Amino acid sequence: MPYAAAASYGPNDIEGIKIAAPHKVADIDPKRAKEPSYADGGTQENCHGYFSQKTDTLYVGEITKVGNKWYPVRDVDATVVHEVGHALDKRLGYISDSKEFAAAYQQDIRAMSASDRKSLDYYLPEGQANNIYIARKEAFAEIYANLRGTDIDERIDSHFPHSTAVIKERLSSLAKSDKDHVAEGE
Ligand SMILES: [Zn+2]
Repeated sequence: MPYAAAASYGPNDIEGIKIAAPHKVADIDPKRAKEPSYADGGTQENCHGYFSQKTDTLYVGEITKVGNKWYPVRDVDATVVHEVGHALDKRLGYISDSKEFAAAYQQDIRAMSASDRKSLDYYLPEGQANNIYIARKEAFAEIYANLRGTDIDERIDSHFPHSTAVIKERLSSLAKSDKDHVAEGE
C-alpha cells in the first residue's frame, strides 16, 4: 500500500512496504512478547507499532496494554507515521547512521539536562540498552513524525534542533530532486 509519505519533504519512494494490523504487536513474535523493550520495563505488550527492517513490514496493533488493561490503539496516525519514518530512514540508506546526523544528534544530547535526558530516554542510548544505533533510529522516526505534524511533541522540537535541521535539509533536497524529475517528465 503506497503511503503518501513525506509528500512535502521528499520522494514517495517507500512503495513496497507491507502494512499489517495484528491484534497486538506482541503477537508478532510471542517468544519476545514479555521481554523488556522500554527503559521503564515496558514490553511489546505496551507497543503501538513496529517496523520490521528485515521484512519491510509496518505493523500497527489494534490493542495495547496500559497498566494491566488492554485498550484500543488510538494514536494510529502518529504510530503509522513514526513507523513510516523508520521505513524512510532505511530506504534512504539510514540517514540516522550518517556522519552528519550522528554529529548533530551528539550536539543535541550534550545540550540536554539530566532531567531532559530522563524524559526523552526512549530516543537516547540509555533508553535503548546503550545501543546508539537504535537510539538514533528512534530519534529519527520521532523527529520525522513531528515534522509531518502527526505527533507534535514540543520536547522533540526543542531538544533535537540540530538533528531536526539535518533531517529537514536531507528531505528537502530530495523533494527538490523529485521536482527536477517531474520537470524532466520522468
Ligand atoms: Zn520507533
